[in-house]
Amino acid sequence: MKTKQLFLNEEQRQGSLNTAAEILKNGGTVAVPTETVYGLAASALSDSAVAKIFTAKGRPQDNPLIVHISDVKMLFKVAKEIPDVVFRLAEKFWPGPLTLVLPKGENVCESVSAGLDTVAVRCPKNETALELIKTSGLPLAAPSANLSGSPSPTKASHVVADLNGKIDAVLMGEDCAVGVESTVVTLVTHPPRLLRPGAVTAEQLREFLPDLVIDPAVLKELESGEQAASPGMKYKHYAPKKQVFLVEGESRAFCDYVNHRENAVALCFEDEAEKITIEKLVYGSSDSAETLAKNLFDMLRKIDTLEADEAYVHAPEKTGVGLAVYNRLIRAAGFKVITL
Ligand code: AMP
Ligand code: MG
Repeated sequence: MKTKQLFLNEEQRQGSLNTAAEILKNGGTVAVPTETVYGLAASALSDSAVAKIFTAKGRPQDNPLIVHISDVKMLFKVAKEIPDVVFRLAEKFWPGPLTLVLPKGENVCESVSAGLDTVAVRCPKNETALELIKTSGLPLAAPSANLSGSPSPTKASHVVADLNGKIDAVLMGEDCAVGVESTVVTLVTHPPRLLRPGAVTAEQLREFLPDLVIDPAVLKELESGEQAASPGMKYKHYAPKKQVFLVEGESRAFCDYVNHRENAVALCFEDEAEKITIEKLVYGSSDSAETLAKNLFDMLRKIDTLEADEAYVHAPEKTGVGLAVYNRLIRAAGFKVITL
């Protein structure tokens, strides 16, 4: 299959969006920038279209997809028995990086939800993503546009590297502003449960959901046989091909530790770079988890381009957006944590 690269400069933008919308209406697949990561979209109403997403990514069939909508009106087409708090959350956080799990509406095809009777829904903030939903008139099922297991794509070039020849088109947009996937909260459990941390933080959500609990799988490996509340959390994820270790400890101890490693690269904070004598990549500032989130996946991809055999990543704080960064890193590391 030849993958069309659709450009979004001023002259080409409308034509590209029209072409992408046509592909989607005809049951094809299009990668699209969102503010979180690039998504691989197909019609959420068609099992055969959604099947192409699973095939292109090599995604396990039991890992459900998020449905993207352009406004709250569209929510009624994809979900049912919507509690009032959803409208308050939508008012505050949509469009934006918050996904809500609700009882599934009849129109959404089976394979989107991998057979569950719930559906995960969000309204993205990125203009291109919103316009694509509006132009196609379809709710779009869209997981991250990477090969399953590899770091999520935050640049159009990441999508091309992973999926060229496997999907119908890529909208060649800007780098993703947030850089980690959306926060996922299920409202079908009592109390509501944070399944995946993202840029909308647990602290912000508790203003609306005071009894919100954080699913244990956010920060630790599931025991074998333990049931995942969010099927995606049981898989190894976001991982470079090299072995990654997540290192917890204060700055001086981290620098000292990595300086004694051989054939290794350090992924560190800005102010640590000059103290590190081995190969290093900087992923942002320790006091701005937003910068760490934005650069994280690009840096995890860069690790694979280096000679080093192993990577040692300095762990961020587990609060605010830092919790999302930590959650992705612990999976990239296959739960190998070194505490100094
Ligand atoms: P991705 O599409 O790669 O961003 O991953 C979507 C995440 O949302 C995965 O971790 C899924 O397991 C989770 N998810 C999607 N739909 C549901 C659902 N109905 N119930 C629970 N988790 C879901
Ligand atoms: Mg993904």
